[in-house]
Amino acid sequence: MRKSRAARIGVARVSPGLLAVLLALSGARATAAGAQAPRTRIVMLGTGTPIPDPERSGPGVAIVVDSVAYLFDAGAGIVRRAAAASRLGVPGLNAPKLGRLFLTHLHSDHTLGLADVMFTPWIQGRKEPLDLYGPPGTARLVHGIVDGNDEDIRERVASSGGPSAEGYRANVHEIVEGVVYRDARITVRAFAVPHSAWEHAFGYRIETPDRTIVISGDARRNDAIARECNGCDVLIHEVYSDAGFATIPAARQAYHAQAHTSATQLGAVATAARPGVLVLYHQLYFGATDEQLVKEVRSTFAGRVVSARDLQEF
Ligand SMILES: [Zn+2]
Ligand SMILES: [Zn+2]
Repeated sequence: MRKSRAARIGVARVSPGLLAVLLALSGARATAAGAQAPRTRIVMLGTGTPIPDPERSGPGVAIVVDSVAYLFDAGAGIVRRAAAASRLGVPGLNAPKLGRLFLTHLHSDHTLGLADVMFTPWIQGRKEPLDLYGPPGTARLVHGIVDGNDEDIRERVASSGGPSAEGYRANVHEIVEGVVYRDARITVRAFAVPHSAWEHAFGYRIETPDRTIVISGDARRNDAIARECNGCDVLIHEVYSDAGFATIPAARQAYHAQAHTSATQLGAVATAARPGVLVLYHQLYFGATDEQLVKEVRSTFAGRVVSARDLQEF
């Protein structure tokens, strides 16, 4: 049932524009209504990159199991996108319920929403600190956010009926490869991926009662993805267009080739990984279209592939 549900969403025709995507999310829920409700829902909160595309928030994926939310990366706009998903019927993404976050690496396009995930749910009623997992350096980043917002925190806590004294904090767990988190609903395993010059960049393998999901993080082509996915239900992977790449300056080509995975490379990775559905996110088009991007992936991958938009659900 899982795969057929992903398939229905995968073939859905989503016209450009956020409204269309919102409708697609609603439609996906309606389609699933007659079947037994899945315990795990994957909502693409942000599919963007450092480019400030108004239709794509910075990278962020929500995995919601039994209405408990687990966030992966915190790009700009993530809390507003979570609120949009909550209004559309994913109650686990109510702001005060945003309590667990896993960072893949510390490139700012993946962390610009971190202060938002720390403070906005707190102001809206979260009593407990954010439970935060990320590479070495995460504690320093959190310290800077708290230090720089000291006046705001003191003013809010001191105000009449203000938020709790602790809920703005983050309990930071700086991670290494291996299982970094486990509870009754989910197991999260971090694995190292190569990404430009970063010493610590991770992908995540997530197991829930009814889905196995792999998130690439930012990574150039590598063998870890196929090993970790190995027939997983959903592979969420970053990508850039081969055709677009050919149009950018040589110096940028050199960078991106070290940092990211081309569409044809990704197709080969997916062929080895055998996911139920391959979901493209963090798409670097360099002028190409979604159709071109998907066609490039399909030149080396015969399975199901979807180029995701913000708020699409899988
Ligand atoms: Zn990135
Ligand atoms: Zn990056």
